[in-house]
Amino acid sequence: MNELRLGLPDDWHVHLRQGPGLAAYAARTATSCGRMLVMPNTLPPVADGLAVDAYRAQIAAAAPSCQPLMTFKLLPGMGTAAVAGCLAAGCLAGKYYPAGATTNAADGVADPTSIHQELAYMEDNDIVLSIHGENPAAPALERETEFLPVVDRLIHAYPRLRIVLEHLSTASAVAAVLAWPERVAATITAHHLFFCIDDLLGGSLQPGLFCKPPLKSAADRRALVAAAVSGSPRFFFGSDSAPHPVSAKLSSAAPAGCYTAPVALPLLAEVFAAAGALSALEHFTSRAGANFYRLPPNRGELLLTRQAWQVPSEIDGCLPPAAGRQLAWQAVRL
Ligand SMILES: [Zn+2]
Repeated sequence: MNELRLGLPDDWHVHLRQGPGLAAYAARTATSCGRMLVMPNTLPPVADGLAVDAYRAQIAAAAPSCQPLMTFKLLPGMGTAAVAGCLAAGCLAGKYYPAGATTNAADGVADPTSIHQELAYMEDNDIVLSIHGENPAAPALERETEFLPVVDRLIHAYPRLRIVLEHLSTASAVAAVLAWPERVAATITAHHLFFCIDDLLGGSLQPGLFCKPPLKSAADRRALVAAAVSGSPRFFFGSDSAPHPVSAKLSSAAPAGCYTAPVALPLLAEVFAAAGALSALEHFTSRAGANFYRLPPNRGELLLTRQAWQVPSEIDGCLPPAAGRQLAWQAVRL
């Protein structure tokens, strides 16, 4: 198969930042998606209705062809009135960052009981809980696995709450999601499906592939691919595209985050083709997530063509994963 048409994808996890880069990052994401779920870990965070409305307006102005779907950041002590304001402003999800787990998460949640009222309100009002599932106190490669018991406790403490565990990186997380009730789902990124930790640091260090959770073993990657191609309603695409300027990425303190938006669909096509599962790609990119968030599919299509191209070393001032590498597929929004 040299050509594949997909219903226009959704990206269920993007970071668009603030300031001068936002317009380019939003427009880039819009080249392959009809809707994008925008993460709220800006400075200051998106954590009240006014901030949600203001951020959405900036994004919509930059990328009118891609609908921004909004989230808010759960902050200890924010109160249910602020959550209600975010709901009134149209937020689909509240994002749980363990304190210190990743970029701009110092003000996150250290103890889940500190957001009990907010979680109970979300459960009562059917707002999805989106979780960055890493325990920052655990060893770097074990942080996701060591956070799974926290998710398990949340699932049992809030028996109607719908939960998305974001950017799975391990076989143990895939197994946990499958063992949990159907109201729990997960996103998987293109870079975690395509690369493993050896690509990051097996040769010379590749800062463009440094993200949190970090890339894991080849066996973990195989488990993620098996989940993504399975056609399960529990797994869907979220790029976790997280732009950082090249100067920061190549500094002596490279921040975590991969600017995957420009290459995500070509990476996914290559992964699914290698697995003999191209026919399952549309479900993963364009159906399962919409079903979980109870939205109709996008109108429009994306055309994937098997035509080799080389990823530039810089896109929108950022270092994309797969920079300099030849990819087999190109994506064009129709
Ligand atoms: Zn993220």
